[in-house]
Amino acid sequence: MNTAINLGATTTIARPTADQVPQKAHNVTTGSNGTANKSSTGEFANWARMVFGRLSRQFEHGDGVALLRWAIETFGTGLSIGTGFGASGIVMMDLALRIYPDVDIFYIDTGYFFPETEQLIQRLEHHYQRNLRRVATETSIEQQEKRYGPKLYANDPNLCCHIRKVTPLQKALADSTAWVTALRHDQANTRKAVPMAQWNERYNLLKLSPMVHWTEDDIWEYIHEHRLPYNLLHDQSYPSIGCWPCTQPVAAGEDIRAGRWKGQNKTECGLHWEINTERSLNSAKL
Ligand code: SF4
Repeated sequence: MNTAINLGATTTIARPTADQVPQKAHNVTTGSNGTANKSSTGEFANWARMVFGRLSRQFEHGDGVALLRWAIETFGTGLSIGTGFGASGIVMMDLALRIYPDVDIFYIDTGYFFPETEQLIQRLEHHYQRNLRRVATETSIEQQEKRYGPKLYANDPNLCCHIRKVTPLQKALADSTAWVTALRHDQANTRKAVPMAQWNERYNLLKLSPMVHWTEDDIWEYIHEHRLPYNLLHDQSYPSIGCWPCTQPVAAGEDIRAGRWKGQNKTECGLHWEINTERSLNSAKL
């Protein structure tokens, strides 16, 4: 992929007014042309799946930048970019900030960041001269250990991720109409079919993944070309970085996410699971 991307003019996007920004599903009212008749959540979900499926196909063959620009111009302050500070997230952040410097960017602080990740956040905020929105669970690690015992991340990582990642994500997206992720097809088998745009029932918004066609090489070419800050652990055989208890370096030739939850029957934190998967979690324990 050619990473010499033409982003067009910067800082020219006016913030959409409230009546220009699409509302969250439960607030959408019936339109006279019938395109947004949301008499029930199920009807709305069907409508949204169809419309955003078309949208995904429309942008499918691009590098994602046109979709990102469209989304920022369409949703304005209703659009939220989530980042875990991985290499793709850094590129997506940079692309978005070149389009709209005030775009909402949030991260979920689990309380288990590596020191290098903490430093990266500071370096990014300095680089872009702006704050990134921090979201965290209201359950401290001490409270979690008191209730569930020590090392929940080892004994029940799905529950730990639910408390420290999924619940804060629900809070982070509560006022958003569109959520942008940096998922890529080449990251894992479970991500090979991620569409560029889809209606997300779980969070009741449009979920966009403009970077799906970028490769690991594309990402690093962009980072080096634009001299972007990145997590220094990437230079120490950590291609994918999450919480320190659940992240290990990988050996040459291993999958880039092989160091995540190594030795456990888990490959995703749950942020991107569909609604039914989430419901099947250990809800009795929550
Ligand atoms: S990645 Fe590990 S430490 Fe982080 S929230 Fe999930 S289980 Fe807990």
